[in-house]
Amino acid sequence: MPSVTLKNKDSKQRRTFIATMYHETFCRRNGKCACSIRRVTNRNGKPVSIKSPASFRVNFGGTSQELPDAVLYLPKVSKAIKSGWLELIEEQPVVKARKAIVTPAPVETPKARKKTGDDMQGGN
Ligand SMILES: [Zn+2]
Repeated sequence: MPSVTLKNKDSKQRRTFIATMYHETFCRRNGKCACSIRRVTNRNGKPVSIKSPASFRVNFGGTSQELPDAVLYLPKVSKAIKSGWLELIEEQPVVKARKAIVTPAPVETPKARKKTGDDMQGGN
């Protein structure tokens, strides 16, 4: 899965960027749930588990940790990238599998020697 890093470039207001990775948006796209599950007791005294979504923050001038690219589907993140608050740094693997270019071995062609009259000269 490609991961991304977000850089906080809010030079005007120097705000800290905080985004909640909502289950419906983030986890669905991410393919796995990043929420933390809390066990609580509800009003009827029954134990229930509550999902609380994960979140991340990017301090001004700093960069986030590597995040799954599903964060880009969070409206807050995409807005912030558009407005210039955040800069998207894609963490792509640098080394890509290169296609081996097979060049055929040069075919030996008999070179046609030009016979010039000079070669023929010089006999004793
Ligand atoms: Zn979740």
